[in-house]
Amino acid sequence: MKRNKEGEFMNIIDIINKKRLGKILTEKEIEYIVNGYVNGSIPDYQMSSLLMAIVLKKMTEHEIILLTKYMLESGDRIDLSSLEHVVDKHSTGGVGDKTTLIIGPIVASLGCSVAKMSGKGLGHTGGTIDKLESIPKFKVKLSEKEFIDNVKKIGISIVSQTSNLVPADKKIYALRDVTGTVESNALIASSIMSKKIASGSKNLVIDVKVGNGALIKTKKDAKELAKLMIKIGKYYGIKVVCLLTNMDVPLGNNIGNSLEIQEVIDVLKNNKKGNLRDLCIELSSYMASLALNMDYKEAKLRVIYSLESGEAYKKFKEFVRNQGGNLIFLPKSRYTYEIKSKESGYINKIDALSLGKLSMNLGAGRMNLTDSLDYGAGIVLNKNIGDYIKKDETIMTLHTNKKLKEDNNILSAFKIEKKRGEPSKLIYDVIS
Ligand code: URA
Repeated sequence: MKRNKEGEFMNIIDIINKKRLGKILTEKEIEYIVNGYVNGSIPDYQMSSLLMAIVLKKMTEHEIILLTKYMLESGDRIDLSSLEHVVDKHSTGGVGDKTTLIIGPIVASLGCSVAKMSGKGLGHTGGTIDKLESIPKFKVKLSEKEFIDNVKKIGISIVSQTSNLVPADKKIYALRDVTGTVESNALIASSIMSKKIASGSKNLVIDVKVGNGALIKTKKDAKELAKLMIKIGKYYGIKVVCLLTNMDVPLGNNIGNSLEIQEVIDVLKNNKKGNLRDLCIELSSYMASLALNMDYKEAKLRVIYSLESGEAYKKFKEFVRNQGGNLIFLPKSRYTYEIKSKESGYINKIDALSLGKLSMNLGAGRMNLTDSLDYGAGIVLNKNIGDYIKKDETIMTLHTNKKLKEDNNILSAFKIEKKRGEPSKLIYDVIS
């Protein structure tokens, strides 16, 4: 038995048992758990047992707000009060999700301040920082002063999260990742919101991805998660808008770090239409509307103008140059493999999750945070959802530094049928 800060006796086993029985934890107990895990007095095995009890028995809104509070208090907070019209964006993670790199320059070109901290990818979902690090010489590590000065100068800076931004989440998330305790709305909401509150923005748009390639598989769970995050935001004076979006199919055509940078450039140069561009327009419009206090329709007109006039692309190049990056020599993998369709028909389904895993195995993603990446590796979809493909036409091209053997299963990610299926919705709901 150990004492908490006030000298009261606390026992982690009693707390685990209490949650196992579905009871509500007190503020003192939640504070004790978070602090105890961060300072090492609660070991991994007891914390993972408690996390599993939380996954199975859930938490009340009040418990989740308290969990967020103590996670937030475990580290530093960034002060963005010297910036105007600050807006942040978060995605709960998906396959081929490079939206941040399109949206950031769009809204910065409209006068918003984008001071964004991002993370590395783990498993089948990619991280913005990995994509940026695939640009030769791009600096993702800046001091807080350099970071804020960049935003003052050009309206946008994206850097990797500092080690002391919510250290409780770093430790808890790493444990959740290996103990089957990621999928819990209480744990996801407190993890995301503690980091977002610590990152300093008072306006936040969250892209809650739903479906096979996402962490959250059902619209019902996504809606509940969105409402929770909006409540936590309100408690901390942050305006939050959540878009529930489809992650049954990958976003755009490219999966993998430098391949995704190339696709970002294509969208910003107006060389590419489709679900990626459409989603970026929606997310940017809600961000600009929040940060500039503007009607959504007016914001959307300005967003489209920024894209079509080339202002957004100009801002992207300025942003990359300002952080030392050079877009001319994006890395390429040594080998490419064209995968041909074995039948003719309409592509009615693409399994985003299995393509995400394939891309990871080609070298684009990591299983452990210390794995190194093949920045040129990944997948280019030559055909996308709804397209007609003929037998022996290329359906996707794999890029990798590995020599690949024949794989008969590789086409199982695609469902090809004689009749064209119903087009799937991109945005299911907007909640604020
Ligand atoms: N993203 C996060 O930052 N945390 C989670 O728990 C899930 C997704």
